[in-house]
Amino acid sequence: MKTSRKIDRVIDPEYVIEGADVLLRRSIAPRRSNEFDPFLLFDHFAFNDPKEGPIRGFPTHPHRGIETVTYMLEGSVRHRDSLDNMGSIGAGDVQWMTSGRGILHEEMPQRSPNGNIYGFQLWVNLPSHLKMSTPRYQEVSDLTIPVVEKNGAKVRLVAGSMDGIEGPVTEIAASPLYMDVQIAPGVEWRQAIPLGHTTVAYVFEGEAAFGGESVKAVRMIKFGDGDHLQVVTENSPVRFMLMAGAPFGEPIVPYGPFVMNTEQEIYEAIADLRRGTFVK
Ligand code: MN
Repeated sequence: MKTSRKIDRVIDPEYVIEGADVLLRRSIAPRRSNEFDPFLLFDHFAFNDPKEGPIRGFPTHPHRGIETVTYMLEGSVRHRDSLDNMGSIGAGDVQWMTSGRGILHEEMPQRSPNGNIYGFQLWVNLPSHLKMSTPRYQEVSDLTIPVVEKNGAKVRLVAGSMDGIEGPVTEIAASPLYMDVQIAPGVEWRQAIPLGHTTVAYVFEGEAAFGGESVKAVRMIKFGDGDHLQVVTENSPVRFMLMAGAPFGEPIVPYGPFVMNTEQEIYEAIADLRRGTFVK
């Protein structure tokens, strides 16, 4: 490991309302500039006050041309889709959903017994040749996610590799690294990341020096290039989602829950929805 990645940009998540009046913290949103290629969106949902009342969630909506990755820490998300898939993503579980040409689904967050909901949703782009592929799910339950505990760091590895261990989510076009990292105070931690892969970290607890620069929760960090990431903690622990992936280098046209390569493909998605031919 020769070149440590330095911070390129620190992003303050913005509050946005999505679905049926659900308040989220969003740090990446799909834009034509495609700055985070292959990543398109990152949302953080956190509800810990029962006064917020019932969370109505995300009633039936379509997706085309992307993958959505849902990771829950507290509470759960009940989901149901046009392919007759149905289930619940619970605490510690991950659902990696490849929409391909199209699905219609609903996602309904449910509070944990202590009243909390805490989780993340990442959108990963698909390359043009896979945008109209057959939809696919990889559902990974809490207990099947490898936990690597070493030298004051605890990592839950969902996709990608570390120390010769492979995450359970595989065959994703962006060759992603997706991990939940917790580091105790007074630790130096390093993770190899392929050169050229876009790398971001969502710091949601504590603080640490990332590539030599201190960042406190809650922030999204975008890194410059390098072959590894170095994270150093001092007096406080830190917890973050680390995400890296190979950029596709293709133009994108985002429109709500669709992300395609051309405007024409967006018009086709809308026409398919109107005609009832969106889901085959
Ligand atoms: Mn969705």
